[in-house]
Amino acid sequence: MRTPETPLLNVETCSHGKTNDGGITAVQEGVFFTFPACGRAHQATRDKYEVDTAWLEEQRIADERRARLALAREARRG
Ligand SMILES: [Zn+2]
Repeated sequence: MRTPETPLLNVETCSHGKTNDGGITAVQEGVFFTFPACGRAHQATRDKYEVDTAWLEEQRIADERRARLALAREARRG
């Protein structure tokens, strides 16, 4: 089991329905953020924002790499 990492959440659209024009469209879960188009403070929580797909893909690739390394270790051990 690997330790869970804090995911990036997609904040392209805020919980008030405004398009994020601040240039940062993915922030770590739990982080507070604001952008000019809305002006209100937001907190990136998973009940309001989706986990960023690019982050999920990175995790998948990292998991595969770890699995391959584990297999290689097993093979060497015989
Ligand atoms: Zn907002």
